[in-house]
This record gives sequence, C-alpha cells and structure tokens, in this order.
Amino acid sequence: MRSHLFAHCVIWRYFRVFNQRFLYMILPIVAYGAPVLRKVCKDITPDFPKLTKLIDDMWETMYASNGVGLAAPQVNHEIRLFIIDSLQVFENQDEEDKGKFKDEPGVKRVFINAHIKQLNGQPWSYNEGCLSIPKIREDVVRPEEVTIEYLDEDFQPKTETFVGITSRIIQHEYDHIEGKLFIDYLKPLRKKMLSGKLNDISKGKLKLDYKMMYSK
Ligand SMILES: [Zn+2]
Repeated sequence: MRSHLFAHCVIWRYFRVFNQRFLYMILPIVAYGAPVLRKVCKDITPDFPKLTKLIDDMWETMYASNGVGLAAPQVNHEIRLFIIDSLQVFENQDEEDKGKFKDEPGVKRVFINAHIKQLNGQPWSYNEGCLSIPKIREDVVRPEEVTIEYLDEDFQPKTETFVGITSRIIQHEYDHIEGKLFIDYLKPLRKKMLSGKLNDISKGKLKLDYKMMYSK
C-alpha cells in the first residue's frame, strides 16, 4: 500500500512537471484598439469553464511577456479577473530604489470579481506601461492606497488594502476590467501626440517579442 502511494506521488510529480512544461499556453495579448479592452467586465461564478487553466495560462503569458500584471480582457475574456506579481519589481529593482516603496517585498495574487471600495492617500506619479499598448510609457498620477474586495482563486472573499507599487499595479489592472486604459489619464494634447503610435499598435505594425492579437 505504502509503495503504491509512493508510486502515485512520483507519477503525480512528473505529471505536474510535464504539465508546467507543455500544457500551459502562452496566450496572444489583445492589442490597443480591440473593443474587448473597452468593456466593463462581468463577475463570474466558480463554475466558469476551465477557470484554473485560464489563470495558469495567464501567469504563463504574463511572465513570458515580462509583465507584472495581466487582466482577462487582455487575453480576450470579458470577465472580472486579473493577476499581479509585484515580487518581481523588488527582485529586479536598482540599488538606489531599495527601501523606496512601503509594499516591499511585494505580492503575487489572483483577483476575481474585484471591486474597489476606497482610494486614499497622496496621489503620486509613476511611469506606466501596458502589454496591450507596447512601447509607450507615460507618467500617470494615481492615489497611494487602494482598498479592494475580491475573491481569491479558491473563491474565498477578501478585503485588503494595498500601498506602493502593488497598489499601483492593482489600480492599473482594475482599470482593465472597467474598460479603462492608462493612456486615458493623459492630457488631450499628449494623447494627440501619441495617436500615430497608437494607430500603429492597433494595426500590428510594431515588432514585438511577444504574440499579440489585433481587431480587424
Ligand atoms: Zn495594462
């Protein structure tokens, strides 16, 4: 019986390794201009088809494209789901930035059916980018703290307050499930100056090191 159990564990372990290597998929990222990026996304229930697989694929996709967050509409799902990993920010930060942010060492989280309850604190500016809007980075002002209600990947309800870079990433990803993009915060003149670049992105004219999906 014991050896049977051992064999089972070994097989399971190999299956998991195999799974990680071959079964998770890198999904194409929806490019600026697609209508799905402008939708207010809907809450989901635990029986949402293949949710675990979708979340695993989103992690795979986010890491493959060097992102720190990814929202479901960016992989063409109109649902209130996003993932973030701010641990990476602190792992890769410059010596001079050490101790600058209060949320060190960061968090890795799945947010399902998230709803922001409160935004507090001193607004601050940070240079943001977005996997759906490649090669554009702009300073965006956002409040310091976010209090958010959400379900974790086991559908357990949580209410948490985040600060620092983690709060910044959460607010950026949360905007995605509300159909908003970081360029919406730019002054009209600045946005006008970027319109050529944005047009190129939506038409797939950029050379990128990750796969994108374009609307016709
Ligand atoms: Zn984004």
